Amino acid sequence: MKIPPSLPPSACLPVLVTQSFENVACTVCGCVCDDLRLLVDRGSIVAAEHACSLSEPWLLAQTSADDFSTQADGKAVSFAEAVAAAADVLRRSRAPLIYGLSTSSTPGQRAACRLADLLGATIDTTASTCHAPSIIAVQSVGESTSSLGEVKNRADMVVYWGSNPLKSHPRHIERYVEASGMFVPGGRADRFLVVVDCQRTATSDIADQFLQVDPGTDFEVLWALRMILKGATPSEDIVGGVPLQQLIQLAQTMRTCRYGAMFFGLGLTKASVPHVNVEALLRLVTDLNSHTRWIARRMRIPGDVAGADSVLCWQTGFPFSVSFARGYPRYNPGEYTANNLLERGEVDSVMLVGCEGVEKLSSLARQRLSQIPTIVLANRSNVGDLASSVQFTTAIYGVHRAGTAYRMDEVPIPLRPVLESRLPSDEEVIDAIRRSICEKP
Ligand code: SF4
Repeated sequence: MKIPPSLPPSACLPVLVTQSFENVACTVCGCVCDDLRLLVDRGSIVAAEHACSLSEPWLLAQTSADDFSTQADGKAVSFAEAVAAAADVLRRSRAPLIYGLSTSSTPGQRAACRLADLLGATIDTTASTCHAPSIIAVQSVGESTSSLGEVKNRADMVVYWGSNPLKSHPRHIERYVEASGMFVPGGRADRFLVVVDCQRTATSDIADQFLQVDPGTDFEVLWALRMILKGATPSEDIVGGVPLQQLIQLAQTMRTCRYGAMFFGLGLTKASVPHVNVEALLRLVTDLNSHTRWIARRMRIPGDVAGADSVLCWQTGFPFSVSFARGYPRYNPGEYTANNLLERGEVDSVMLVGCEGVEKLSSLARQRLSQIPTIVLANRSNVGDLASSVQFTTAIYGVHRAGTAYRMDEVPIPLRPVLESRLPSDEEVIDAIRRSICEKP
């Protein structure tokens, strides 16, 4: 929605209730666009300039939220009673799990790590149900990276592989393909846009070139591109549904561009051995760097999932699926991922820091989740109808509280509050629970 550049004088009389906030960061998706202009009136966001189709309805639904609630066993209780109940659940638990963290912020994620360490718990983030294969691939073969600012200023070729940003990250193309940059002043006109996907999408419709690969054949297509770059020719005329001539042309365009950016999404991780697909893509980008400059970046979905990776890395040494059960951090995706732990019945209580990851769990894991004590920290807008033993309605970072979110390129973006709220942050709730546990060992 467009906001008038300045309010008419009458709008400021008799009492100034309308406030404008410039350069606000949005945390609805991993782009963390930090150029929003919000208009706040009587405790509500009434207009959001530069917000996209995903963020505008979400932002306009936020309020000052003074009616915060805490519940224990379905009954409204005081904050102190809820903290005591949550501490009691965790104190009795022999194998607690802390899960979520991707709509949190650095302070909340750090507090969650501290609590997991104290409890000897397992801590896992929603990355384990989305870009985990990419993280494992990056750990295996490394990655060539850059900031998104560098892409905006330098990239004259952009490839989206297994990603439909016009739907999942609506402003990504506007900011990094259409925007003019230092060495690409013509913006979109100066960039060659390629989409590789197994079906036509809104993004493929605006691309300069679209490669439709057969489902499950990304690896073959990526390996064929690597072969062509090395001077060999695949023996098949069609690889993964793509004519060989088209692949030869694409390899030539990739090799001769000045600066290429490869953005890959969850479409690439849908395979029986998904991290191998991502490894192939990262190796292709490494090969391309023998000819010209190329980078690869993941299209992260939730607003601060990259922050959850980063905070867990600098607190525990590992990005997700970390167990403190032996008193020191151990990392083992599959063994310590939330979904697998729940499916195997190896946890006896769960603290959900945000509920956004629950819908991605398998039905068996969700069923197990409903059978054990659960502590839920979430804002009202994403609590859903999840059964929980103790529930805290928490403030939203970037709306009610200051914090930090990491953009998909791992650049930390400061978050400012735009609405006043008495809601506690997840950091405050977690620290209160930790103190309560420490007070009554
Ligand atoms: S693209 Fe993502 S971060 Fe940017 S405004 Fe839309 S939802 Fe928010």
